[in-house]
Amino acid sequence: ETMVTHSNIEKPKISFKDVGGMEAVKEEIALKVIHPMKNPEIYKAFGKKIGGGILLYGPPGCGKTLLARATAGEINAHFISVGLNDVLDMWIGNSEKNLHNIFQEARQNAPCVLFFDEVDALGASRSDMRQAAGRFIINQFLDEMDGVKYSNEGVLILGATNSPWYLDSAFRRPGRFDRIIFVQPPDQKAREEIIKLQLLEKPTESVDVQSIAKQTADYSGADLRAVVDIAVESKLPESLKKGRVVPITNADLKNAVGRHKPTTKEW
Ligand code: ATP
Repeated sequence: ETMVTHSNIEKPKISFKDVGGMEAVKEEIALKVIHPMKNPEIYKAFGKKIGGGILLYGPPGCGKTLLARATAGEINAHFISVGLNDVLDMWIGNSEKNLHNIFQEARQNAPCVLFFDEVDALGASRSDMRQAAGRFIINQFLDEMDGVKYSNEGVLILGATNSPWYLDSAFRRPGRFDRIIFVQPPDQKAREEIIKLQLLEKPTESVDVQSIAKQTADYSGADLRAVVDIAVESKLPESLKKGRVVPITNADLKNAVGRHKPTTKEW
């Protein structure tokens, strides 16, 4: 039996300032998880229950995973990331304890952000999920999430998906994924922030971030990162040849934009 013991635990050093744009999403996460975590007595006084999960959805590469890690960083919590498809595949390979082990690890390392990628794998439309085995996994997941047998105090559950409509509706009830947040492709201002973040600590010369952002409508954060990577790679041979660092220019970035097509349109 394959056992997931220590999935992928870390203590992220990044925080919200490392995530470009997404002001509204950051605000919602702050209200729902960060403030309650930092000021539990205030929430208690108003009889406000703390808990439940947040589901992030939107096109790939727009920063869902990054934001989840940054959330952990904001509250100095551990971060565990789990690809749900991997868990399910292992489960089908006879390891029904994996999901429980993962939740236990999060509880033992509280405060902890427990992040499930590919949450749509828990969808009613996936054929495995309609079988008895699928119901069993879904019920187990719901049990763990409800935290009845074991307390989930200090465990923040975040989920990410590109297709929320596949998720079994039982997950959307109160105390479960009761907040669903759309993580949209970055707008002009967000793209400027992301480009600046991606260029941070890299040698540049007279780069016009605003104009590059204008030319990259429909580019995701991951696309913008790819653009910067292409620009970096275009400067390496020249730098090596000259034996000194030749900085990235605006023309290099423009060039790189032409060589990387945006991916959010396909979503
Ligand atoms: P997927 O659905 O494919 O998992 P995702 O929405 O989780 O995508 P991330 O994995 O968080 O996207 O983003 C990929 C990379 O793109 C990040 O590691 C980061 O380098 C860059 N990136 C994406 N969005 C942002 C952002 N808002 N600010 C800064 N960098 C970003």
